[in-house]
Amino acid sequence: VLEVSGLAKSFGGTRVLRAVDLTLRPGRVVCLIGPSGSGKTTVLRSLNGLETPDGGMLQAPAADLDIDFSRPLADATRNRLRDLSAMVFQQHNLFPHLTVLQNVIEGPVRVQRRPRAEVIDEARALLARVGLEARSDAYPAQLSGGQQQRVGIVRALALKPTLLLFDEPTSALDPELVGDVLSVMKDLADEGWTMVVVTHELAFARDVADEVLFLDDGVVLERGAPDRIFTAPREERTRRFLERLM
Ligand code: ATP
Repeated sequence: VLEVSGLAKSFGGTRVLRAVDLTLRPGRVVCLIGPSGSGKTTVLRSLNGLETPDGGMLQAPAADLDIDFSRPLADATRNRLRDLSAMVFQQHNLFPHLTVLQNVIEGPVRVQRRPRAEVIDEARALLARVGLEARSDAYPAQLSGGQQQRVGIVRALALKPTLLLFDEPTSALDPELVGDVLSVMKDLADEGWTMVVVTHELAFARDVADEVLFLDDGVVLERGAPDRIFTAPREERTRRFLERLM
C-alpha cells in the first residue's frame, strides 16, 4: 500500500524525525510505540498530510503517489495523500454542535461530495456495527468517552480510506471504557483494514499487530514481530521502555 523512507521533520531547530522508514502492506497492522516526544504523532500526521516533512520519500503507487518531501508538495498531491488515510485522534475531535450522524456524514458529504442519502445509509450501518445505532441523533456531550471515540472511528471509516491511522485512541479514556474501543479496532484489523496504531496498550499491540516499531528520538530503533519485540528486545532502550510499561 505504502512505502516511506528517510522521513525527516524539524520544528524550528529541533529534529523530531531523523529518518523513519515504514512499509505498509495491505491488511497489515503496524503499531508504533515509543517514549513521549519520540515523534510517533508526527509520523502519523505526516502520513496523513497534516504535517509536511522536510525530507524523505513516500510511495503509494495505487494512489498515484510518489513524493519526494525535499521538494515543494503540489496541492493536488497533498490532496491525494489526505484522501489515502483517515485519522482517529486521541481526543475524538467531534463537532459539539452536530449530532452523531451529522458528525459522521460531514466529511463524505461536504468534502467528498458523495450523495447524501447514500452516505446516511452507510453511516447508519457503520454506527450499528459499533453498537451506536440508537444514538444517531444524540450530541457528542451526551455520550460517554468510549462512545464518542467509537463515533470517531466510524467517522474515519465513513471516508472509505485505504489506511486507518490511530493516534493513542484510548489514552484519554477512563480505564473501563478502553476495552470497547480496542475491541472495535481489533474487529477492523480482523476485517482486513490496513492500520497504523500509535498506542501504549501493549496487550493490544501483541494481539493485533503484524509488526511493532519502537520509535526513539526520531528514528525506528527496533522493529519486528510483536512476540519478538516484547519477549526479546535487542536494544537496551527498547527493554527499558517496555519495563516501565509492563
Ligand atoms: P507523545 O507520546 O507525547 O504524544 P510523540 O511520540 O507522539 O509524543 P510527537 O507528538 O510526534 O511525539 O512530538 C515529537 C516532538 O516534536 C515533541 O518534542 C514535540 O514537542 C515536538 N512538536 C510536535 N509538533 C510540533 C509543532 N507543531 N511545533 C513545534 N514542536 C512540535
